[in-house]
Amino acid sequence: MSGIRPTGFLHLGNYFGAIRNYVKMQDDYECYFMLADVHSLTTHPDTKELKKNVLRVLAEHIACGLDPEKVALYCQSHLYETAELYLYLNMLAYKGELEKTPTFKDKVRQHPDNVNAGLLTYPVLMAADILIHRANYVPVGKDQEQHLEIARNYVNRFNHRYGHVFPEPFAFNFNKELIKVPSLDGKGKMSKSENQLATLFLADEDDVIRKKIMKAKTDNGPAKKNSVKPEYIENIFLLMKLVSNEEVIAKYEDGFNNCTIRYGDMKKQLAEDMVNLIAPIRNRVNAILNNEKYLEKIMKQGADKAIASAEATMQLVRNAMGLNYF
Ligand code: ADP
Repeated sequence: MSGIRPTGFLHLGNYFGAIRNYVKMQDDYECYFMLADVHSLTTHPDTKELKKNVLRVLAEHIACGLDPEKVALYCQSHLYETAELYLYLNMLAYKGELEKTPTFKDKVRQHPDNVNAGLLTYPVLMAADILIHRANYVPVGKDQEQHLEIARNYVNRFNHRYGHVFPEPFAFNFNKELIKVPSLDGKGKMSKSENQLATLFLADEDDVIRKKIMKAKTDNGPAKKNSVKPEYIENIFLLMKLVSNEEVIAKYEDGFNNCTIRYGDMKKQLAEDMVNLIAPIRNRVNAILNNEKYLEKIMKQGADKAIASAEATMQLVRNAMGLNYF
């Protein structure tokens, strides 16, 4: 189980942190992938653009290779059962703990005028999203690790108090290590809302991709053989490892170690490899977006599958909690 907020265009961080793993999982696991529209209300209360964003992000999921026949691809707001589970989990969540969550502190800094209770209890709703399907594996990027730890706390508290209902969910990545896709300016991670010029979006046109990559921070190259890479150079290598083939990567690693590297050439190569990844996805998104009826059908189909799973879980939860009086 996993989810992405429909708060803007999907980017390379969403792709490598989450969706690429979704696509790999879809043949071997029972998968529930969610468009987290309710979560987006914590920071984006204006709903005028919401439907458009939901349809776009849905199309982006499909364009990346997700097959709606194999997985449940659904909207969070269609699952009322999650709201019920969220309410029960809130009784197992402590204010002090929630206030200490780093993502909460970040959000308070970014949105000082709208520090709502939904923002504070974001990890509780996220736990409910996962536990509603009694999920074991949660394919997410590195930034979500702490939220998973919080979800495991609620699982243990619930199971201890009411009897075993939930498995402990763990963050999941096929390459073992969770990924953080760095932003192109060498500061922080790629993200939908921050530093958009340093984030590569799946909707970016080829020349935009090239321009953004050519602007990425570099320097004159190492002065001594086999030096340690500064973080901004390490980031460019990291991006290259995500999209380029092994020979290309080896060539630039050698170039760095022998002080012959030309970062201009490296960025040109990276840009072309990135265009090769993004352009087909972008073109598929545009084709799918034209077919709103198809997207609505997928959403309904996903909701039906997710609701069936959620209803089964809530029967177990109500029974375990003794909320079954007749
Ligand atoms: P955003 O931060 O862009 O708003 P979300 O909070 O909706 O994205 O996160 C959706 C998924 O994408 C999560 O699994 C998250 O871990 C992953 N993700 C987002 N940004 C990155 C990044 N830069 N690197 C790796 N994974 C990321």
